Amino acid sequence: MSSSNTAGQDDTFRGIHTFKHSLSKQYYVFSCFRAMSYLCLWFFFFFLGQLIDGWKCIAAAVAWEAGKPLVIEEVEVAPPKAMEVRLKILFTSLCHTDVYFWEAKGQTPLFPRIFGHEAGGIVESVGEGVTDLKPGDHVLPVFTGECKECQHCKSEESNMCDLLRINTDRGVMLSDGKSRFSINGQPIYHFVGTSTFSEYTVVHVGCVAKINPAAPLDKVCVLSCGISTGLGATLNVAKPKKGSTVAIFGLGAVGLAAAEGARIAGASRIIGVDLNAKRFDEAKKFGVTEFVNPKDHDKPVQEVIAEMTGGGVDRSVECTGSINAMISAFECVHDGWGIAVLVGVPNKDDAFKTHPMNILNERTLKGTFFGNYKPRSDLPSVVERYMNKELELEKFITHEVPFSEINKAFEFMLKEK
Ligand SMILES: [Zn+2]
Ligand SMILES: [Zn+2]
Repeated sequence: MSSSNTAGQDDTFRGIHTFKHSLSKQYYVFSCFRAMSYLCLWFFFFFLGQLIDGWKCIAAAVAWEAGKPLVIEEVEVAPPKAMEVRLKILFTSLCHTDVYFWEAKGQTPLFPRIFGHEAGGIVESVGEGVTDLKPGDHVLPVFTGECKECQHCKSEESNMCDLLRINTDRGVMLSDGKSRFSINGQPIYHFVGTSTFSEYTVVHVGCVAKINPAAPLDKVCVLSCGISTGLGATLNVAKPKKGSTVAIFGLGAVGLAAAEGARIAGASRIIGVDLNAKRFDEAKKFGVTEFVNPKDHDKPVQEVIAEMTGGGVDRSVECTGSINAMISAFECVHDGWGIAVLVGVPNKDDAFKTHPMNILNERTLKGTFFGNYKPRSDLPSVVERYMNKELELEKFITHEVPFSEINKAFEFMLKEK
């Protein structure tokens, strides 16, 4: 069984050591959708590397209950089964989606669970049938997948894989409906197929993008989710031409990544729209040239933008999830050619309302999921954009905290909300 391949990249895990204490260096990077702040710092922590029949005993941050601090626990991680890979996670970041499901205010709670879905790591072992990844490969796990066989994967236009599309309710692996994590026999649930708040995790091979091994994982780990989502919304869907005007609604991490996409595309004016004026200074680093706070005006923001731009912007990207922002983002694009792209996730009962004339006058409304990137096929090229210095990722990272202090990252995020 190839799943018995357990030769790790790290000497501390190799061989039959029983509770060998080792000092390991690891980053914990965190990001957030709304607050747009990441923090990184070096940290050290002790862990117990134990290897019995391919099982690993590792440290993971377990959420036992909704809204309660995570607890660093010694967790057993099973070997990968068919079409699965086991990853050593080196860096992970925190996204608002982790916090949302950890708070479990709007969904059925599923605990105990290991959260985390933005990360960079190295393949440690592969299960049966895995041919395009091998131990040592540098990878980004992704919350949505690409099986390469379904009608979506076969379509050039879609990235919404039938088999591996994001599923926030499932806390187990697809193949056998079981978890690969346990503590004294008690299963610990997975989160969106990634569970990266753990030294090791098991992921379906279709949710793993193999990237350039020279890419620094502490930086490119943020491409697993929000940054690619915003960047792709602009570059793959809105597709602004050089010299065009672009409005970005919402200047959280996703919105700033959308602005970064507009900057890369050569937009001449990038108008940031946000209710929080404090964000404008930060947004300048991402190419935002003008700022509109809807609170400062007594008319709809789409009218303000139309006046600023002689009839409307060429492109707009909405990254807030607010239904009013979505409508404004659509109505602020120029007639004749304007394209608006929706990225934010609305509330359950929201309805989009606009006069049909706005569409008849040749405005286009589009939506996107994960920036239209196919995780396995396209993420490696996004990493290359960073390697070529076209895409800047450092400015998205504002905080670093040790993995052992992961709860601090949650506190930062909650404070910024
Ligand atoms: Zn995310
Ligand atoms: Zn598929």
